[in-house]
Amino acid sequence: MLDHQHTTNQKIHFLKQKYTSCQSCKELCESRSQVVFGSGNLNAEILFIGEAPGANEDKNGIPFCGASGQILQDLLQSINYDRNQIFITNTVLCKPPKNRNPKANEIKACNERLNQTIQAINPKIIVTIGNFATKAITKTKVGITKIRGKPIETTINNSSYTIVPVVHPANLLYNGRNPVIFQQMKDDFNIIKKIINKKTKHQK
Ligand code: SF4
Repeated sequence: MLDHQHTTNQKIHFLKQKYTSCQSCKELCESRSQVVFGSGNLNAEILFIGEAPGANEDKNGIPFCGASGQILQDLLQSINYDRNQIFITNTVLCKPPKNRNPKANEIKACNERLNQTIQAINPKIIVTIGNFATKAITKTKVGITKIRGKPIETTINNSSYTIVPVVHPANLLYNGRNPVIFQQMKDDFNIIKKIINKKTKHQK
């Protein structure tokens, strides 16, 4: 266990060093003030993958630290999890200009880093937040509203992972914190919890 922890630390440290001055995406390099690598527990059972850093994240260097981050925290609490227990990163590590969507070539440029992060953390479950992360990981063409909360098995670097796509917390903000949408999001987080419990039981 300690060996695994040590190796994970080394791999994440190496990746952070490698990408901290990455210049692969011209527009993103001009728009970012820093590369937001990801944060959290290196022994996490759950790895969350968002879309891209926004203004708050770019300023603070931490993914999901604004209003969306608070919603994520509330959702985690609803399944008795804490932010300190998970690891969270994004599909692209640098803030797009004017909060635009990441482009296909930018997602592709950051994909090897994402796969290596997944391999280093080796979580029990990967939660993809929103369309961009879900497409980048599962290659699906189905929109998030149709596949949210539906587990997908996928192979990344020869290892198989369970993916659960969820709606982006920002969606709740765009919809005036609609309680129906919030309940759907909590239901999806319950599915995450059930899968974790099942996997933990099988390990005993
Ligand atoms: S988004 Fe990823 S690949 Fe593009 S410049 Fe930032 S770290 Fe490099």
